[in-house]
Amino acid sequence: MTELRLYNARTRSKDVFVPLDPTNVRMYVCGPTVYDRAHAGNARPAIVFDVLHRLLIHFAPFMGWDRVTYARNITDIDDKINARAAETGRSIRDITEETTAWYFEDMQALGEIGPDLSPRATDYIPEMIAFIKALTAEGHAYAAEGHVLFDVTSYPHYGSLARRSLEDMKAGARVEVAPFKRNAMDFVLWKPSASDLPGWESPWGRGRPGWHIECSAMSKALFGDAFDIHGGGADLLFPHHENEKAQSCCLTGEDSFARVWMHNEMLQVEGRKMAKSLGNFFTVRDLLDQGLPGEVIRFVFLGTHYSKPMDWTADKVREAKATLLAWRDQAADGGDVAPSVVDALANDLNTPLAIARLHQLSKDGRAAELKASAGLLGLLDDRMGEWARLGYSAAAFDDRIGELVRRRDEARSQRDYETADRLRDHLLEAGLTLRDSAAGTTWERGPNFDPGKLGRQG
Ligand code: AMP
Ligand code: ZN
Repeated sequence: MTELRLYNARTRSKDVFVPLDPTNVRMYVCGPTVYDRAHAGNARPAIVFDVLHRLLIHFAPFMGWDRVTYARNITDIDDKINARAAETGRSIRDITEETTAWYFEDMQALGEIGPDLSPRATDYIPEMIAFIKALTAEGHAYAAEGHVLFDVTSYPHYGSLARRSLEDMKAGARVEVAPFKRNAMDFVLWKPSASDLPGWESPWGRGRPGWHIECSAMSKALFGDAFDIHGGGADLLFPHHENEKAQSCCLTGEDSFARVWMHNEMLQVEGRKMAKSLGNFFTVRDLLDQGLPGEVIRFVFLGTHYSKPMDWTADKVREAKATLLAWRDQAADGGDVAPSVVDALANDLNTPLAIARLHQLSKDGRAAELKASAGLLGLLDDRMGEWARLGYSAAAFDDRIGELVRRRDEARSQRDYETADRLRDHLLEAGLTLRDSAAGTTWERGPNFDPGKLGRQG
C-alpha cells in the first residue's frame, strides 16, 4: 500500500501521514463566516478538504484506522454579521441561520461528503471563556479596558508557523493600534460589547470573543489537546492560524494542537484573491443557477493543485463539461479504485495528475475502474453527482434530446409553430445545433452543450 504524504506548513516538508490515534483520525478545517452566500473562492477549501476526507476514508481500512472525523466550524460571531444585521434590520440569528443553511446546501451541491461535526461559535462561549481565563492565569494574556489580549512576547515560538519574525510582522501587517496593547502584535481574545451588540457575561464584563480563540476552544472541546490535520485557505496562515497555534500551545504544550497544517491557495480574479471585500466575486449559487452542475465546478477546481493559485475560466468549464459527459457515458459499476489514481492523490493530493490518470483509464477502456477511481475525487459519484441526482446520464441526454427534436418535428407538421419554436429555443439554449432537412431534423452537441438546461427526465 502506498503511503500518504502531505505537505505540512509546520515542518515545511512533505511528510508521511501517521495519525496520532489510529482509532480516530481527526481533521479540523476553518469554515465560513456566515453573513452572506459563499463565493466561488470559499468552495475551494470545501472541495480540497473533501478530497482529503475521501482519501482518508479510502486509506482507513488498509491502514487499520477505525474512524475519520472531520470538523468544520461555523463562525457566527463576527463584526461583518453585526454590520449586516444593522444594515438590513434583521436579527443576527436570522441572518446566521439562513446563511448557514445556504452554505450547507451549496457545498452539498458541489458533492462534498460533508463534515461530521459543524460546531457553531455561539455554542462554545463557556469553553472560550475558560480558555481565556486559563491563558490569563498562566501569564499569556492580560485584561485591559474590558478587552483581554494575548501577549505575543509570552510565547517564544510566535511566528514559527508562518515563518515571520515579530519585526517582519509589525512591518507587514496593518495592526490595529490601541493604547491598551502592550505590544503592537498582541491580539484580541475578548472585547466589550455595547448593549446593541451580541454579548455574553464574562469575568471581564459583557462582551464577545475575538475570532482566533474560537478554533482553539472548539477543536479542544471536540478533539482534545492534539489532533492530526488542520486546514484552511492560505489567507488564514497569518494571523489566524499563527494565533490559534500560539493560544493552544501556550496552554497545552508545544507538542500539542495540530500536527499537519495544510493550506489551499487562492482562487483569483485578475491576479488578486477573490474576496467579498474586494467586490471581485461571484457566488457558488450564481454558478449553480446558471445551470452548471456542481460536479463541473468541482472538476474545474481539481484541475489545479491545491497549493497553486488559480483562475476561473470559461475554457476550463467547457473542458470539464465535455470530459465529464464522456466519462459519464463510459463509466460502469463494479470496479476497483485504480492504484495509479490513489498514488497521485497520496502524493500530497495531486489532483491534476489524478485527472490525467483518469483520462488514461478512459482511453484504455477501463470503464469500471474509471468510475470507482473518479469517486475518490467526488466525481461520477452516483450518490453525490448533481447530474445523477437529476437522473441524467449521457445516454439519457441523447434520448431526451431525440424526444424533444421529435416533438418539435411533430408540432411543425401540425403547423403548431408556437410549440415548435419554443422547443427549438429550448434546444438551442442547451447548446445544441439543429439542422433541418426534408428528411427531418438532425442535431449535434455544440461546444456549450449544457445538459442541465434540457430539463428533468420523465
Ligand atoms: P471566510 O468565510 O472568508 O472566512 O472563508 C472561508 C474559507 O474560504 C477559509 O478557509 C478561507 O481561507 C477560504 N477562502 C476565502 N477566500 C478564498 C479564495 N479566494 N480562494 C480560496 N479560498 C478562499
Ligand atoms: Zn480557524
